[in-house]
Amino acid sequence: MSGVCIGSVGELLVEFVCTEKDHRHLRAAPYVGPFPSGAPGIFIDQAARIAGGLGGRAVFAGAVGDDAFGTVLLQRLKADGVDTGLIRVIPGVPTGTAHVSYNSDSSRDFVFNMEHSAAAHLPSGDAIEAGFLAAGITVLHISGSMLGGAAMRAAAVDACERLHARGVAISIDPNIRTELMTDRGYLDAVTRIMAMAAYVLPSDADADLLFPGQTFDNWSARLLAQGARAVVLKRGDQGCIGRDASGTLALPAHPVTVVDPTGAGDCFCATFVTLLAAGQPLAQALAQANAAGALAVGRLGPMEGNSTLAEIAAVLNPEGA
Ligand code: ATP
Ligand code: MG
Repeated sequence: MSGVCIGSVGELLVEFVCTEKDHRHLRAAPYVGPFPSGAPGIFIDQAARIAGGLGGRAVFAGAVGDDAFGTVLLQRLKADGVDTGLIRVIPGVPTGTAHVSYNSDSSRDFVFNMEHSAAAHLPSGDAIEAGFLAAGITVLHISGSMLGGAAMRAAAVDACERLHARGVAISIDPNIRTELMTDRGYLDAVTRIMAMAAYVLPSDADADLLFPGQTFDNWSARLLAQGARAVVLKRGDQGCIGRDASGTLALPAHPVTVVDPTGAGDCFCATFVTLLAAGQPLAQALAQANAAGALAVGRLGPMEGNSTLAEIAAVLNPEGA
């Protein structure tokens, strides 16, 4: 089970969470943070925990500013075992930020500073390709949250095309953030990356937008026929459905008190993709990802609820069997 090496590229952000509901960032309220975040950052932190437990690795390409927020991100990723060699530190440009505020109808509002922050100063396409190949990645994961603006979107598609051509499996979580969708190019980029992808992991909301009026059976069959190895639908408190050549499996969510749902999807994706890439069968990877997602929603902060294989096992076998 050794040798799995997971890569991701995209935005590194620190996140501030509004501690009162229904503020919509329009009224003064206490925020808690900075938490290390950015969907691909959450993903790679969890991938490092899972891969590390199997003797594998995780490597990230991105950028932070030469400031305290950048230090928060680099320290956390290093501490959790992420290879940060492809993370640039950009002097004079502030680290990216996200502010999130929850509403009582369970919707959430984000304010992002990404495209005009250090997060957008990604390494060049040549550096990403060479660095990931030197690291030996077997999977490149993209979160759709980086596809909102033209420059980062182009970098993501370019990285996928380069690495796909070199035999690296592509993984995509469409992860639609309406706040970041500036134009139609977002959906075009998701569609292009999905056509290359071995792993496709939308949420219910993503699937409604990408495959309107289609059932999971229909769109997952189409993606598998086009060459995907595994397809998953993340369903929040409804659990998840996974499908590969061996069949389809639906799992209910673990009962849990929701503290902060942001990041559950990224944590789920990292657990699932890393375990499948390491050779585990769909049923095992899906069950552990479903447990990791439940653990993630139980902790305040986007990657504070990330987990190890042992913590996931404790959810699945509470008796310690
Ligand atoms: P995000 O983009 O905010 O990170 P997402 O929309 O991509 O999240 P979700 O479907 O919300 O992804 O969550 C991913 C997985 O985490 C779910 O499929 C489920 O396994 C688990 N999960 C999420 N919410 C809950 C919950 N309330 N209770 C238990 N498990 C949950
Ligand atoms: Mg998501």
